[in-house]
Amino acid sequence: MRAIITGGAGFIGSALVRFAVQKLGWDVLNIDKLTYAGDLSSVQAVAGNPSYHFLQADIGDGPLVSDAIAGFQPDLIVHLAAESHVDRGIDRPAEFIRTNLLGTYTLLAAARSYWESLPAERRACFRLHHVSTDEVYGSLDHEGVFSETSSYAPRNPYSASKAGSDHLVQAWYHTYGLPILITRSSNNFGPYQHSEKLIPHVILNALEGKPIPVYGRGENIRDWLYVEDHVKAIGLAAVRGRIGQTYNFGARNERKNIDLVRKICDILDRKRPDPQGTYHRLITFVADRPGHDKRYAIDASRLENELGWRARENFDSGIRRTVEWYLANEWWWKPIREGKYAGERLGRS
Ligand code: NAD
Repeated sequence: MRAIITGGAGFIGSALVRFAVQKLGWDVLNIDKLTYAGDLSSVQAVAGNPSYHFLQADIGDGPLVSDAIAGFQPDLIVHLAAESHVDRGIDRPAEFIRTNLLGTYTLLAAARSYWESLPAERRACFRLHHVSTDEVYGSLDHEGVFSETSSYAPRNPYSASKAGSDHLVQAWYHTYGLPILITRSSNNFGPYQHSEKLIPHVILNALEGKPIPVYGRGENIRDWLYVEDHVKAIGLAAVRGRIGQTYNFGARNERKNIDLVRKICDILDRKRPDPQGTYHRLITFVADRPGHDKRYAIDASRLENELGWRARENFDSGIRRTVEWYLANEWWWKPIREGKYAGERLGRS
């Protein structure tokens, strides 16, 4: 398998690159712009592997992306490159439209030209796998779960731009016959996640003795999926999923944000006790995120029934592993925290 992975220097993309090269034995070309969110230290484990290749490029650069695809001759493109942080989308939506919408369009156009140029046998095997999010479905109240047939109802610039990119991918399938599939995952957690995101933010603020901000009263609910389980599901769906189909990815791990934060404090109290007292003392309630979606919950039965996927980590084992990883891997997060993002509040309005 020769796979182009876009956004392979980010959180999920780097987990997929490491898994694809080390466990699946794929030849991989990682195309990443290396924005503030991308860092090659996340793929250091495969940097010297002859099956791994890297191109620093913007997916919105049509000629460069077309040349890269023609040169690498992939059987598969897995598209993860995106602006991914809801709070940044509130402050600076333009970049979200540029990358998530126009960038996806540019990639689709390049993939289509390449696919149409292939001999029939290789055309029949090619796929473009678009990695999307449950946030395109909007917000749930106390009841119900998102299934693949739930309506689109995005409510912030990030989720709206991701919903738009889903529509473009589906349009390229129905209009031009480009073989695509879409997967929509719930919130991911695990190693190598940028410290702007909730779980690393809590861990690192706690370790630095800073306030641990909780939006509103912390009542919002997210459904958590361990990143290594996610990339295994991508590996399965990319190869065995049905063309034109959408698969929801989740592991039935709904948690209130405040319960999650308390759980992390408990783990840190055990593993790295602070002489000044329990980490719970740092929890600080702050003004809520504008348009904050109340609850997400994913029904992943299509993925489980059709592709036989099962999550390996439950929430407790996953969160323990994640905290342990951050405690053991300061070499990774410290320079990023000092250089690019020091934990300031984003996305107030
Ligand atoms: P991330 O922000 O950690 O990584 C994004 C990567 O894309 C970075 O390496 C960045 O440099 C790269 N990138 C950004 N703009 C680019 C451009 N114009 N051209 C090339 N590369 C560019 O994101 P993530 O959390 O790893 O998410 C990856 C994908 O998965 C995204 O498409 C996101 O919407 C989706 N997703 C994420 C989650 C989650 O919980 N993190 C859940 C569901 C879906």
